[in-house]
Amino acid sequence: MSATVGFIGLGNMGAPMAANLIEAGYTLTVFDLAEQASADAAARGARVAESAAAAAAEAEFVITMLPAGPQVESLYLGEGDLLAAADADTLLIDCSTIDAETARRVAGAAGERGIAMLDAPVSGGVNGAKAGGLTFMVGGEAAGVERATPLFEVMGKAHFHAGPGGAGQVAKMCNNMLLGILMTGTSEALNLAVANGLDPAVVSEIMKNASGGNWTLNVYNPYPGVMDNAPASNGYKPGFGVDLMLKDLGLAMDSSVANGVSTPLGSMARNLYSMHSQAGNGGADFSSIMNLLKGQGTT
Ligand code: NAD
Repeated sequence: MSATVGFIGLGNMGAPMAANLIEAGYTLTVFDLAEQASADAAARGARVAESAAAAAAEAEFVITMLPAGPQVESLYLGEGDLLAAADADTLLIDCSTIDAETARRVAGAAGERGIAMLDAPVSGGVNGAKAGGLTFMVGGEAAGVERATPLFEVMGKAHFHAGPGGAGQVAKMCNNMLLGILMTGTSEALNLAVANGLDPAVVSEIMKNASGGNWTLNVYNPYPGVMDNAPASNGYKPGFGVDLMLKDLGLAMDSSVANGVSTPLGSMARNLYSMHSQAGNGGADFSSIMNLLKGQGTT
């Protein structure tokens, strides 16, 4: 495999995704605003470009993994001028979690230049990214999805074509609203169990095997000491940051208003994450919502 990939955004998720592509034999040119992130990728064999546009030039695929919609829009359509740098036969794949409207606008602008683009947000967390075990939720033309499949297979365990441009972001938004609800609910249940004198590891094992079982208990337990490789056992270092979860719950709330759909539990989860962020925990892992429920506002 010698296809060339321009990879932009080497944070908690982008860095291990890029590392897996290098490992699989892809030729990577990378760019991140944080020099250390680019230097770490260079140590794994990537070439470091001087700008995002330079990373995209002449690449067969461009993958972006940025925090939110404004960064994606500015990179592709604004200052980053990435669309101007990309070849017509480059396939653009944005894996960031952003609002569907921005995803459609950017893909539309790409389409006007004859460049194909997919929205392909992921689920699976940092450990999933490291293990090549992500799930991709993809919006765009079927031909693009087919072309990107070998890359999805390196970085992930599954990919789903959700529908036309923006559909991947809609699927991801719904998934993460559910995840925010599950993380707060799981934290609430564990906190109550511990207040009643139960061992959090024992009650977690019980719930995993009972009707309350869910992803957070299986791979991301929010109680410190239950799961060695979970952020809760590592001082709530992210992982997936509180402010990123707050952003995703905000996307779901915007969509619930726009579509006239009630999302009462999503709204409650957003409020809890907002309070937790305002107490100074925006940079902590999202499982630290446990501390809000324990009555310790700061991590
Ligand atoms: P992060 O904040 O760790 O990384 C983002 C990276 O983008 C940083 O290294 C930053 O320097 C870089 N960056 C920002 N603007 C840039 C620009 N204009 N040009 C180049 N680089 C730029 O975030 P993350 O945790 O890796 O998440 C990335 C995306 O993936 C987010 O949309 C998030 O919601 C989503 N996501 C995260 C997780 C997770 O568990 N962390 C899971 C699924 C999805």
